[in-house]
Amino acid sequence: MTTYAAPGQPDSLVQFKSRYDHYIGGEWVAPASGQYFENVTPVTGKAFCEIARGTAADIEAALDAAHAAAPAWGKTAVAERAQILNRIADRIEQNLEMLAVAETWDNGKAVRETLNADLPLAIDHFRYFAGAIRAQEGGLSQIDEDLVAYHFHEPLGVVGQIIPWNFPILMATWKLAPALAAGNAVVIKPAEQTPASIMVLAELIGDLLPAGVLNIVNGFGAEAGKPLASNKRIKKIAFTGETTTGRLIMQYASDNIIPVTLELGGKSPNIFFEDVMAQDDGYFDKAKEGFTMFALNQGEVCTCPSRALIQESIATDFLDAVVERTSRITRGNPLDTDTMIGAQASNDQFEKIKSYLDIGRQEGAEILIGGGVDDLGGEFADGFYIQPTIFRGDNSMRIFQEEIFGPVVSATTFTDFDDAIRIANDTLYGLGAGVWSRTGNIAYRAGRAIEAGRVWVNNYHAYPAHAAFGGYKSSGIGRENHLMMLDHYQQTKNLLVSY
Ligand code: NAD
Repeated sequence: MTTYAAPGQPDSLVQFKSRYDHYIGGEWVAPASGQYFENVTPVTGKAFCEIARGTAADIEAALDAAHAAAPAWGKTAVAERAQILNRIADRIEQNLEMLAVAETWDNGKAVRETLNADLPLAIDHFRYFAGAIRAQEGGLSQIDEDLVAYHFHEPLGVVGQIIPWNFPILMATWKLAPALAAGNAVVIKPAEQTPASIMVLAELIGDLLPAGVLNIVNGFGAEAGKPLASNKRIKKIAFTGETTTGRLIMQYASDNIIPVTLELGGKSPNIFFEDVMAQDDGYFDKAKEGFTMFALNQGEVCTCPSRALIQESIATDFLDAVVERTSRITRGNPLDTDTMIGAQASNDQFEKIKSYLDIGRQEGAEILIGGGVDDLGGEFADGFYIQPTIFRGDNSMRIFQEEIFGPVVSATTFTDFDDAIRIANDTLYGLGAGVWSRTGNIAYRAGRAIEAGRVWVNNYHAYPAHAAFGGYKSSGIGRENHLMMLDHYQQTKNLLVSY
């Protein structure tokens, strides 16, 4: 086991600045308001730096810089843009441990996740879109003897991006890599709960991009997010966050008739058919790991498998087994590589999860394990730690219908295939789902019948850059990852030419 030194200690891999300005036009720019807000690490609950508090004036300054940079960036040869993206990936890779510690300190998540998932996925994302943009081809078709149709890809120009706090660097990467590859200049607003690690990333990669191509304005949703999302000078707004905020973003965008990508909330069903326990051949162990994915990233994952649906015939044995497995999830200092789950990202989130633990009890759900806070004591006493919790109840309860966004799973039973699909689809959301069955026909039919954009079959929570990701229903509009993402950041120009 390695325990990384906490930022602030002399031997830490990362030393945050005491104050971060906005990153605009390749420079560090003080907020127009002169105001900064405190940024707290969830690991100890203590403030560790100040962050520029953005307002409409800062957004306008960032848009000025982006508009100045966009025309030349959009005309840069595709091979050169791809090379820059690859250099960004290399730079992140060379500093992976440092960024992993920065992300853990800012967000609270376990360093084993940032080291092995968040940062490697971010690196791969830049490399994937560096390759994708080079592989993209225009189209030419002969309509008749005298008429030819050409199709060209053009960047949109200047785009706005707003991201949440649960995977700060990875969510930034999901948006930046395709937008930059396609030749757009970007103004991005990180979440106010986790603004610092992205500024460390900007310090690291800023010099690789022409000034003004990447601009970062921090601040709160109403003060900095709204002036960006509702701005007439952006050609697209890409947003990841809550469904209620997504509705507002879509309203702003409708005034300007610009496209939106909305990656919103989820309440993902994870379905376990009775044959998962049929033999003692290791498959059930894999399924149990899939079940415990509810606690991954402290449950702060839009696709958290927060509803477990278990076939009635195996429910008692299955639940005993997953309770035992959950009891072995290691908790503790997020900077220890042995720790599986760390701290919730903010005090607000901590309080929200605690309120849902009370709601579950009041609704009459049975707590099979957990149900409270984790007091780690010492320097972590004021951190935001929650016990992994399994409720057993009914799909009509609020703990089954509302996004808790903590290490909490609500388990229920189903009788047969149709009942499983009925319960799985009885939700506002349609982002992710899991299906576990040794029987190919059952797994396939369930995967097709669930109303969700991503269904993991016999696994859970892989996020390869080349698999399309996005929501059905109230979970969003559009897709991220995959080649198709380039279409979301480009215009298609058609020339119909007679010779
Ligand atoms: P949130 O909607 O509160 O905030 C997200 C971002 O929007 C923040 O940067 C915030 O400052 C900004 N914002 C808030 N109000 C705004 C407004 N009026 N105008 C413009 N910007 C505004 O969401 P959150 O609590 O930070 O994130 C958690 C949510 O994100 C969960 O619902 C989760 O499911 C969702 N999420 C979805 C995905 C996905 O890919 N579908 C991925 C991660 C998280």
